[in-house]
Amino acid sequence: MNSLETVVSVDEMTIEEHDALFVLTELVRTGRAQTRSDLGRLSGLGRSIVTQRVEEALNLGLLEEADFGVSTGGRVPRTLRFKYEIGTFVVVEFGARNLGVAVTDLAGKIVESVHENWDITEGPEKSLDRVVKMASSLIKQHNLPDVWAVIIGVPGPVEFETGKPVAPPIMPGWNGFDIRGFMLNAFGAPCWVDNDVNLMALGEQAVLKATNQHGTAADNLLFVKVGSGIGAGIISGGKVHRGANGSAGDIGHVAIAEESKVVCRCGQIGCLEAIAGGWALARDGEIAAKESKSPFLAERLKTRGFLSPIDISEGANSGDAYCIEVVARAGRMVGETLATLVNFFNPGMLVVGGTIASTGDLFLAAVRQTVYRRSLPLATRDLRIVPANPNHEEGLIGGAALAQTEIFSRSHMTKWITESSPRAILGH
Ligand SMILES: [Zn+2]
Repeated sequence: MNSLETVVSVDEMTIEEHDALFVLTELVRTGRAQTRSDLGRLSGLGRSIVTQRVEEALNLGLLEEADFGVSTGGRVPRTLRFKYEIGTFVVVEFGARNLGVAVTDLAGKIVESVHENWDITEGPEKSLDRVVKMASSLIKQHNLPDVWAVIIGVPGPVEFETGKPVAPPIMPGWNGFDIRGFMLNAFGAPCWVDNDVNLMALGEQAVLKATNQHGTAADNLLFVKVGSGIGAGIISGGKVHRGANGSAGDIGHVAIAEESKVVCRCGQIGCLEAIAGGWALARDGEIAAKESKSPFLAERLKTRGFLSPIDISEGANSGDAYCIEVVARAGRMVGETLATLVNFFNPGMLVVGGTIASTGDLFLAAVRQTVYRRSLPLATRDLRIVPANPNHEEGLIGGAALAQTEIFSRSHMTKWITESSPRAILGH
C-alpha cells in the first residue's frame, strides 16, 4: 500500500464511521432494527463498530435503551428506540381563507392542531406572525421541547429550493417573500415551504401506508384538490414530484379548448379552474341566484350578500337542482383533465378532495365515470379513485411527513447528527 492509498483509506474510514452513526440511528428510528444484533445483521457492520456507534447515539440522546427483547438462546438483548419526543415539528397549512397549525413529535404524531378562519391576502408578515403566536401557544401549553423543523404549506406555486412563493395568483404580497428566514428568526429552526396540495398528497400517502391499505398503490398517487382553485399533488415512486422549478401538478390553468371565452384570475383565457373551480362556480352561482334559477343560492345571496364555493357544495348536498347540475358538470370537466393525467402518469391511487369534491358521491361519480371512459384500459386496470380523508388533517399529516423526510435525509442528518439536533446546523 503506498502512502496515497493510506491517506484515502483513512478518509474513507472517517466517512464510514460518520455514516455508520447515521445508518444505525436510521435503522432504529424507522423500526427496521430493534437490537444491536439486528443492527449488525442489517447494516453489515462489525460488532465493535455497532457497539461504539450505538453508544455514541445513546450519549447524543438520539437513542435510548428500551425493554428487553426476545432471547435467541443467549443473553436477553436490550431493545433500542429512537427518542421521538426530543424535538417538535411545527406544521402550518394556509388555505385561501383558513389556517391550520399543528405541533407534532418527531414521528409526526400530532400533539394538537388548531384551525381558524384566516384570509391569506392579509400578506406574509401578518399571516406568519399569527402562525408564530398560535404555534408558540401550543408549544407552551403542552410544554414541548425545541422546534426541530417548521413546514409551511401555501395555496400557490413555491420554488421548493428557496421556499419562496413565485407569483402566487391569490396571495398578494407573498411573491418572493423569505418565509424560511422569518421562521428561522422566530423558532431558530430550519423551515421548508411547499404547495398545500403537495402536503395533502403526502398526508394521504402517509395515512394509507400507516394503515397498510392498498400496498404500493400509494407510492404512485395523484391528489387532486377542487376547492376555490384546482391543483394536484404528485407522489411518484414514493416521493413528491415537484418538477424542475416546483410547479408540477398546477393543473388549474390547463386550457379547456371548448370554453375559451372565460377569463381566469391568472389572466389567461379558458383555464380549467375558470370553469370548474369553486370560485368560478360561486361567480356563476351569483348570476343564477339573481336570475332565480336556484332557490338555495338566492336565499344565501340574500342573507350574506355574496356566495363562496362552500355554498355551491352545500346547495348540491341539500338537493338544489342547479347546484347538483353545476357540480356534476365540474366533475366531468375535471375528469377530462384527470383522464389525460391518468394516461400520462398511470397512478395507482387518485384521491379527490376539496370543498367542491366534498358533495357526497356526486362530484366523485362524475370524475370516476369520465376517467374510466377516457383512459386506456391498462392505465385504469388497478386504479382506485377515492375521496380524500374527511378529517381535513391530511395537509398537516403530510407536512409532518415532509419534516421527517428532510430532517432525517442522509445529506441533512449526517451534518447535524453529532450535534444531537438540526437546530444549529440547518439554519439556511
Ligand atoms: Zn388560469
